[in-house]
Amino acid sequence: MQNYFIELSYLLASILFILGLKGMTHPETAKRGMHLAEFGMLMAIIGTLVHHEIVSYTWIITGLAVGSVVGLAMGFWVPMTAMPQRTALSHAFGAFAAALVGISEYYRHTGHLDKITMSALGFEVMLGALTTTGSLLAFAKLQGLVRGTPVTYKGQNIFNMALLAATVGIFIYLVVVPGSMPLFFTMAGLAFVFGILLVMPIGAADMPVVMSLLNSYAGLASAATGFVLSNKVLIIAGTLDGFSGFILSVLMCRAMNRSITNVLFGAFGSAAAATDGGREQGVMREVGLEDIAVQLAYASKVVFVPGYGLATAQAQHAVRELASVLEKRGVTVKYGIHPVAGRMPGHMNVLLAEANVPYSQLYELEQINPEFPSTDVAVIIGANDVVNPDARDNPQSPIAGMPILEVDHAKSVVVLKRGQGKGFSGLENPLFFKPVTGMLYGDAKDTLTRMVAAVQQA
Ligand code: NAP
Repeated sequence: MQNYFIELSYLLASILFILGLKGMTHPETAKRGMHLAEFGMLMAIIGTLVHHEIVSYTWIITGLAVGSVVGLAMGFWVPMTAMPQRTALSHAFGAFAAALVGISEYYRHTGHLDKITMSALGFEVMLGALTTTGSLLAFAKLQGLVRGTPVTYKGQNIFNMALLAATVGIFIYLVVVPGSMPLFFTMAGLAFVFGILLVMPIGAADMPVVMSLLNSYAGLASAATGFVLSNKVLIIAGTLDGFSGFILSVLMCRAMNRSITNVLFGAFGSAAAATDGGREQGVMREVGLEDIAVQLAYASKVVFVPGYGLATAQAQHAVRELASVLEKRGVTVKYGIHPVAGRMPGHMNVLLAEANVPYSQLYELEQINPEFPSTDVAVIIGANDVVNPDARDNPQSPIAGMPILEVDHAKSVVVLKRGQGKGFSGLENPLFFKPVTGMLYGDAKDTLTRMVAAVQQA
């Protein structure tokens, strides 16, 4: 009866995880998907708690209490702009848990492990260990605790590959001769070091891709834990996590027109700024807030293009307010959303949904690009790289080939940013020097709030 209940709760949890993932594929159903996945996790925990092999609940309840308090505190206090580093920290916790379970299982069964169990266990510890330190370093880079630029040195890739080969070599030896405890701990130690070396040469700009890749490793480590513990829900959830993380990394790379190997080994962000820094672009034309307010008030179509600056300024409510004022005057308002605008997938969708921007007004890159020639004003709110025409026009550019929002085809372009700051890639943006473009300097939220009042008076 007990086993029947466990299997049933695991089955329900697995179904809910799959439905949750399906829900998260669309902004309109994402919230429901999240709730389904949360409920699935609850079912998995309840099923595990009634397991007959549990001899004492003391440590389990302590862990549940500590984890719940930390999770709740993070949920309440971590701001939206810090979501990428918060996710990195969660990956580190999950991967460390997988590595510790593997280490304790090895300790418990030393010398008495069959080849299949040892393969799963070694895989779990290796991936768990490197994901732990890799995610912690990603967190530190994104939080600004360590320098975000790539740290490179001569022969780095060869050294890293040699270290990985040594770690995998020990793993293979242990599958054949599982009893050597010192070698097992050497393998775990090397994997912990490899995680740091893997992330060190990657710039903060590429961290979202790295994180979803590490997420995928953590998922595969959990799936391996499921094999070791004969736990079906861990195998299913780990595999779902592993492959969805991998697919997400590939999709992000595609949206930037870069390969995974370029992200992992390209040290993007250091050389880019150096190759582009000296180019003479001309002068930027500064415009006044009142002039732009009149342009917007008498436009028939306005497209807002949000980017990372919208997130840092937390300007989503202000843009929504401006859109409402414009719509009341009969202006058609749309939002152009680039797949990698911001610092994490879906960043702009989440922010705009928080401000209740109707989903029907959000247009993907392919949908909005043909609309720019008929757009009166394209308002760029803290976006830079995703509207950089060099990606389209300059084959020598480090971001050549990256699909962009072609705002320079609009009749007029207004760029809201604080100053002459570069985008994440560190490249200059020729859009800012085009005759069609006007620069409106200041914090995006502040500018948009003042713009609402100015449009009302126009
Ligand atoms: P971006 O290129 O990073 O540019 C952001 C701009 O916002 C900066 O030029 C900055 O200029 C401005 N800004 C910052 N704070 C502001 C504020 N408070 N008010 C007004 N403006 C502000 O942003 P993006 O166009 O969204 O491009 C995203 C970049 O991240 C791309 O290079 C993309 O490849 C990369 N990336 C994204 C993901 C993802 O999943 N989304 C993943 C990997 C990489 P000032 O300093 O002058 O204000």
